[in-house]
Amino acid sequence: MPLRIVTVPCLSDNFAFLAHDPATGATAVVDVPEAEPILAALARAGWQATDVLLTHHHADHVGGLEALQAGLPAPARVTGAAADAHRLPPLDRAVAPDDTVSIGSETGTVIDVSGHTVGHIAYHFPGSEAAFTGDSLMALGCGRLFEGTAPMMWDSLSRLMALPEGTRIFSGHDYLAGNLAFARSVEPGNAAAAARVARSRSGGPESVHVTLGEEMATNPFLRAARAETKTALGMAGRSDAEVFAELRRRKDAF
Ligand code: ZN
Ligand code: FE
Repeated sequence: MPLRIVTVPCLSDNFAFLAHDPATGATAVVDVPEAEPILAALARAGWQATDVLLTHHHADHVGGLEALQAGLPAPARVTGAAADAHRLPPLDRAVAPDDTVSIGSETGTVIDVSGHTVGHIAYHFPGSEAAFTGDSLMALGCGRLFEGTAPMMWDSLSRLMALPEGTRIFSGHDYLAGNLAFARSVEPGNAAAAARVARSRSGGPESVHVTLGEEMATNPFLRAARAETKTALGMAGRSDAEVFAELRRRKDAF
């Protein structure tokens, strides 16, 4: 039975998620920017958090964990990247790329999406057609390169692009409006991107997250390998990773 996923807006522009397995009642919290809205969302849904899945070490993704645990009837089991165990909150389960994780009866896979940070992981649940990508692939964008290199991030995005196109992408921030402005500047003729944001305005936070196929049609960072994108940037014949790097540079200065 597919996971039921609830988007929880936190802080100024972060998202946490509840992922609930109806078969067992198990519920995972994906990233913990702050405790209060997550506890309120759990109470509203009538779900008990059994697990916490962390994507990366930044404070806006882990800073609420202690308060969340204190507010739960029993502490949730915390999963995060083994490679980042030294700078994550204490983990009950340290995982490596290709390891499996479970939320009740739903099994997922850990994917290395280093770039924004080195050691950043995503969680893919194929039975639920869902992937939690933190600050790697984001709605209409991707995370800034704080620790990794552009080729590293391009490899990470390429791993995500290899998932089934129907996979819904649940990312860590709502930067949709700014990302749209950038996407329009790169590909002014991409009507799918404009339509996507118009739709999200009427649909609230849940509608920020679309399928991988829709990201690939609208997100300029996933379009670095396309001949049209290379030509538009004056980079015909350059490598995909070089074009991605140029897109990232332009967005940083946008
Ligand atoms: Zn981050
Ligand atoms: Fe973040």
